[in-house]
Amino acid sequence: MKTIDAGHGGGQVLRSALSLAALTGQAVHITHIRQNRPKPGLQPQHSACVNAVAAISGGICTGNDIGSPTVTLKPKAVHGGAYEFNIGTAGSCSLLLQCVLPPLLFAPKASTVRIVGGTDVPFAPPAYFLDRIFLAAIRATGADVALRIERHGFYPKGGGVLEAEIRPAQKLKVLDWTAQKAVAKAHAIILSCGLPAHVAEREKTALMEAGIHDVQVGTPPATGTGNVVFLQTDYAQAAAMGFDALGKIRKSAEAVAQEALDKMQAFEKTDDACEPHLLDQLLLYAAVADGQSRIRLHHLSEHAISNLRVLHEMMGTEHSFDGKVLTVQGKAPC
Ligand code: ATP
Repeated sequence: MKTIDAGHGGGQVLRSALSLAALTGQAVHITHIRQNRPKPGLQPQHSACVNAVAAISGGICTGNDIGSPTVTLKPKAVHGGAYEFNIGTAGSCSLLLQCVLPPLLFAPKASTVRIVGGTDVPFAPPAYFLDRIFLAAIRATGADVALRIERHGFYPKGGGVLEAEIRPAQKLKVLDWTAQKAVAKAHAIILSCGLPAHVAEREKTALMEAGIHDVQVGTPPATGTGNVVFLQTDYAQAAAMGFDALGKIRKSAEAVAQEALDKMQAFEKTDDACEPHLLDQLLLYAAVADGQSRIRLHHLSEHAISNLRVLHEMMGTEHSFDGKVLTVQGKAPC
């Protein structure tokens, strides 16, 4: 049994440890879960991840209670198949999918995973980011995952549905993200569900005034009301990046558009090949890839550092960072 001190990390280190425990068949005892957060310990979102990883790995978990600072997972073998997980709250479907995905990618057979919960909620990748940025990035490593966004679901109602088809890979290729980026194209999707038309129109105007002329407005099926501005930048020789902002009561449409624009502009000022949210979500893939991944970066966040520490403790993953490039030495799971 490995003991992982989640220490200063948030939900991300918990999810990384759970995913790798199932992937490697290694029992894990995780302590000090989210200890510095206002509501420490396991929250429904995290507890749903523990249950989901236990379900796909035939594992036994103890301590999986709301507020618990520790949890133990003893996985058996990961089985592909058809799974459905209902988070029961607006907890993020994207984060749950990201937690079960690495072990299912190395399972003996294919899987379909249907998840009910929040698809576009605070502090998590919105569905378009998951589909167009995160999954696009891991597809380049050989991960064969198709996503269907059946229904969007927002905070606080949830009720969104994602369905993923996952075909196992024998090995994942490394990430070589060292090329200089030059913006090829910036475009946007505004998702507006159950809201007056002027919300999306004002967001579109704000984006167009900032020079983003390719803006689509969508009103896809959804539970409840919600609004997302999702900006995507595509590059000739680098991976696409996404920058999102969620609408909420008493936040003006212009402020939502500006938040997404600010994130994009802040990233564009750097020489980096990966923005911090995506980096968080990709480090595990670098750890299980077959060889050395290299990502052009000028700064490693606390989040990334705690995630790298957990990857080291779970997989022995070594990394180095010289202020320009992050190098991660991956080890393909046997
Ligand atoms: P905690 O509350 O302890 O921080 P958590 O699971 O809610 O736990 P994180 O550990 O920060 O939060 O994990 C959230 C994940 O969602 C991270 O991978 C983060 O990069 C990603 N994420 C958060 N906000 C966004 C966003 N706006 N767009 C894309 N990804 C996001």
